[in-house]
Amino acid sequence: DSPSKPYRRVLLKLSGEAFADEAASISPQVVASVADQLVEVNSLGVEIGVVVGGGNIFRGASPQASGMERSSADHMGMLATVINALALQDACEKRGLDTRVQSAVAMQELAEPYIRRRAVRHLEKKRLVIFASGLGAPYFSTDTAAAQRALEIGAQAILKGTKVDGVYDADPALHPDATKYDRLDYIQVLKDGLKVMDATAISLCMDNGLPIIVFNLRTEGNIRRAVTGEPIGTIVE
Ligand code: UDP
Repeated sequence: DSPSKPYRRVLLKLSGEAFADEAASISPQVVASVADQLVEVNSLGVEIGVVVGGGNIFRGASPQASGMERSSADHMGMLATVINALALQDACEKRGLDTRVQSAVAMQELAEPYIRRRAVRHLEKKRLVIFASGLGAPYFSTDTAAAQRALEIGAQAILKGTKVDGVYDADPALHPDATKYDRLDYIQVLKDGLKVMDATAISLCMDNGLPIIVFNLRTEGNIRRAVTGEPIGTIVE
């Protein structure tokens, strides 16, 4: 059974790179454009939770962190997601969109703690909820956090915003003749190692029948197109 579209509640996964441009790791223009899109979708009455990544600032499993204890490096990565979350909150609130940041790591001066029932209540009140610090545990990614939070809040789909138009059989930046998939199943993503989300996240979505829509975030209006069920990008289901 595919969930009814348009979706009423979605979980948007924004990678750290979704905040960056050539000039800055957190680009005011890029964040503004995402916030504009979120305001647009909120005005349609769609409930949106956002899981933010931190790769524009720090990743636990990266050369930046070489030689560090993995858990410590992952803690730094989780803090990076909080920085992005606060940037997005600021941009959304400047546009009049009520926004709450919930962090999986306690930092009550900056953000609410993650409490599922409270998050759902915010969504019901049409507030944007930004989930920071991933799952709060090392050795996980914010992709996995996106799948887990989506399930916990009862989202009908994960929207994975990227820099390309969907999932291709080869990197379209390197292979101009690469072809885009309109639809994929979870097993094919895992088997072919397609870059959608990491394997832990894909497995969680597969086990729970949660669809993932991969689309180009940089095209204005695409978040709306994804939630209203326009066939954009690639759907993994
Ligand atoms: N991280 C973690 N546990 C989590 C989520 C994230 O340890 O549940 C850390 C991990 O080091 C990761 C970093 O936070 O590399 C930033 O998240 P991610 O790499 O998923 O960001 P993205 O690739 O989406 O920018």
